[in-house]
Amino acid sequence: MTGKTCLVTGGAGFLGSHICEQLLAKGNKVIAIDNFITGAAKNIEHLKANADFSLIEHDITKYIDVPGEVNAIFHFASPASPIDYLELPIQTLKVGALGTHNAIGLALAKGASFILASTSEVYGDPLVHPQPESYWGNVNPIGPRGVYDEAKRFAEAMVMAYHREHGVDTHIVRIFNTYGPRMRGFDGRVVPAFICQALNGESITVFGEGQQTRSFCYVLDLVAGIIKLADSDIHEPVNIGNPSERTILDFAQKILELTKSDSEIIYKPLPVDDPKIRQPDITKAKSLLGWEPQVSLEDGLNKTIEYFKLNPSSATRPASLHS
Ligand code: UDP
Repeated sequence: MTGKTCLVTGGAGFLGSHICEQLLAKGNKVIAIDNFITGAAKNIEHLKANADFSLIEHDITKYIDVPGEVNAIFHFASPASPIDYLELPIQTLKVGALGTHNAIGLALAKGASFILASTSEVYGDPLVHPQPESYWGNVNPIGPRGVYDEAKRFAEAMVMAYHREHGVDTHIVRIFNTYGPRMRGFDGRVVPAFICQALNGESITVFGEGQQTRSFCYVLDLVAGIIKLADSDIHEPVNIGNPSERTILDFAQKILELTKSDSEIIYKPLPVDDPKIRQPDITKAKSLLGWEPQVSLEDGLNKTIEYFKLNPSSATRPASLHS
């Protein structure tokens, strides 16, 4: 993708800001939209001097008309960590439903292509392992995670309807656990939580017995896959993630080793509906996009640890999102 005008909802978020940066580096113009409920101005501060970058502060759950040409829309606005969507359940549902409707309506009006940030959460607590795109999932619609999972499932249905009904050039990326610089230290996700606890000399909080598994992808690998998918003619969902799977306990030990921390591991109750296993089947991404992750867990984690060391304010516990 080059020479296009791209609009990125959630452009000041963790993933959104990396997408903006990579699209600019490839010679595109970028318009970021963010309402800053979970995004942060500092994530895009370094892009503001670039004449090809602009920012609209707006809540995408409300109608918006963007003047001028738009060729591609990346819909990445959403609270995306368990703590965020427990604290912002209605906003999470609204941005998945109303926000997706507004963003894809804009794509239709502008003749732009559209890519939806979907999630491995559409598979819920999976009964099939690893998870291929053909698996329909095992989601509890009324549990605390349901606000995120069902919003994203609805968003996928909306995107496919706009593709089938209006012929919009749509794409759906199912994103598996991703980590890297610009995550918020205490957004509840395991990577920033463990790194910040280790750096601050706090206990590492392993939930349950730590036998649940996850597969972690470095953010720049993920963004490379997303841009390939946005450039493709694939309209069905594609998993993007790193299939290298490990238990959360093993992961805690890896973080202790890399941070050279002597924090102790303590055990806390497992959150409701916490998936027991998760690993992407990336056969489709490999064969159709020629994509697979390149960055090892150790290299990616070292870059992320470095980020939190250089940005100590990101590694301190914030007040509530509502305050
Ligand atoms: N987890 C943990 N301690 C923490 C935060 C998370 O043990 O302080 C576990 C959590 O229960 C889950 C896994 O780490 O099994 C990944 O959690 P995360 O919130 O990062 O993402 P999820 O894949 O659950 O959406």
